[in-house]
Amino acid sequence: MQILDGTAVAAHIKEQLKHEAEALKARGLNAPHLAAILVGNNPASEAYVGSKVRTCAELGFDSTLLRFDVSISEKELIHHIQQLNDDNAVNGILVQLPLPPHISPDAIINSISPDKDVDGFHPTSQGKMLLGQQTFLPATPYGILMMLEHYKIDIAGMHCVVIGRSNIVGTPMSVLLSRNGNPGNATVTLCHSRTKNLKDFTLNADIIVAAIGRPRFVTADMVRPGTVIIDVGINRIDDAARKSGSRLVGDVDFDNVAPLCSYITPVPKGVGPMTICGLMKNTIAAAKLQAGMID
Ligand code: NAD
Repeated sequence: MQILDGTAVAAHIKEQLKHEAEALKARGLNAPHLAAILVGNNPASEAYVGSKVRTCAELGFDSTLLRFDVSISEKELIHHIQQLNDDNAVNGILVQLPLPPHISPDAIINSISPDKDVDGFHPTSQGKMLLGQQTFLPATPYGILMMLEHYKIDIAGMHCVVIGRSNIVGTPMSVLLSRNGNPGNATVTLCHSRTKNLKDFTLNADIIVAAIGRPRFVTADMVRPGTVIIDVGINRIDDAARKSGSRLVGDVDFDNVAPLCSYITPVPKGVGPMTICGLMKNTIAAAKLQAGMID
């Protein structure tokens, strides 16, 4: 069994991105600039945005963090996004999800300019992805593809079972794994909350991508020996042994599943750092797009 070390792969990719940002600046262009929007004070969202902003600094990118009170209206939030759309100094825009219940995530995502949609959630980005056209890929599936590529895990012809059908992880992951590309060409089964006899599918999988949001949901009896496991889940559970009183676990019962696998991503330090790489790759691509360096 080999651990797929997201932190190590991300460090390697970040080094390349740092050089790319330097090369842009050497050509007289501005550093890539990411604008992040945070509404309210959800501690997990604070942590995710904080780590994205810190990574920008590490790579020599510029970043702006716009914080809004939880009471901001949908209309006001869209107004701020439109200002960022019109700001030539900003290359990429991300709105940290989830949003408060009175704000429609679809309305917010739709208001971001597709040219600045570095999270890859806009219908234009998702549509182009579906058609196999050049676009911003959703950051988490993009990061997972980079991870598979780094470890030279050839998924062509493999049976991949994706559990979870969200628009940001499960559904785009199923599209990207099955497309005619590299990595790609897998045979994909997309499972979800209404799937009957989930175990029948997972026991026939060569790769399982778990994006459910339920702690240690995938157990050893659901996995056959030699499976590749990509654990997207980030779940906080109580842990009296920790000073903080809690810790993060994935959607996979790591301790019991890992001995069975060929490869497995840990939580934390697996898919999480790769998601940030996907976002940063998209941000530099946005900067190049807006500078007319790519079509
Ligand atoms: P979501 O809640 O939008 O979707 C969860 C999916 O799981 C749904 O499609 C649902 O059909 C499926 N599901 C629920 N119960 C099920 C069951 N019993 N059997 C089979 N399928 C079931 O979640 P999401 O936004 O896709 O996120 C999933 C998890 O991944 C969460 O823990 C989230 O925090 C994490 N996440 C991690 C990263 C990262 O960078 N590592 C990025 C995004 C999300």
